[in-house]
Amino acid sequence: MKSKGLLVVLSGPSGVGKGTVRKALFETDQEKNQFFYSVSATTRQAREGEVDGKDYFFVSREEFEKMIEDEKLLEYAEYVGNFYGTPLDYIDKMTNAGKDVFLEIEVQGALQVKRRMPDGVFIFLAPPNLRELESRIVNRGTDSPEVIAERMDKARTELQLMTQYDYVVENDDVDLAVKRIQTIIKAEHLKVDRFIDDIVENYLGEGD
Ligand code: 5GP
Repeated sequence: MKSKGLLVVLSGPSGVGKGTVRKALFETDQEKNQFFYSVSATTRQAREGEVDGKDYFFVSREEFEKMIEDEKLLEYAEYVGNFYGTPLDYIDKMTNAGKDVFLEIEVQGALQVKRRMPDGVFIFLAPPNLRELESRIVNRGTDSPEVIAERMDKARTELQLMTQYDYVVENDDVDLAVKRIQTIIKAEHLKVDRFIDDIVENYLGEGD
């Protein structure tokens, strides 16, 4: 039996470690050839070492606005002064070909995807507690006390949206978080709903 590819959305508050967990997931041998990462478009400047087309599609504000207008994005959000969005055609192409597509996006965008594609698998990456989240944001060393306070406020609001997701994965340890995500995906592949056409054809059709 064959099922359509999954759309897996990993989300969670700023500072929780989404990027680190996503990279670790893609580095594990087991998952290497199974997932396809959906590269987002963004208007932010590339950071050192980032590659256009691999980390992001770096576009101008005008180009981004044109993508919105032409309905080329599955979702988009403005985050700390820049736009981020998920190109729609890649997701359609891969899931229709039976491949799993993985998005790592912030909370507003994830909830837009949920409204448009409720069949997706929505995973909320949660910090062990608020104190731990604050110390991660502080330890990045890039933010002023005001920005840290602002990020913490935003994180509290985002944590309240956790109940709208299908799964919650605590990021107490990166390897453990990766294992939990792999378990979720394996189980999701076996859900009856994902095989319904095959089931009707192979088991419930007219017998001889
Ligand atoms: P950064 O600038 O650190 O790469 O990303 C900032 C935030 O934007 C992160 O929380 C990241 O998950 C989120 N992000 C990256 N791509 C997208 C996207 O396509 N859509 C949305 N909504 N958020 C995104």
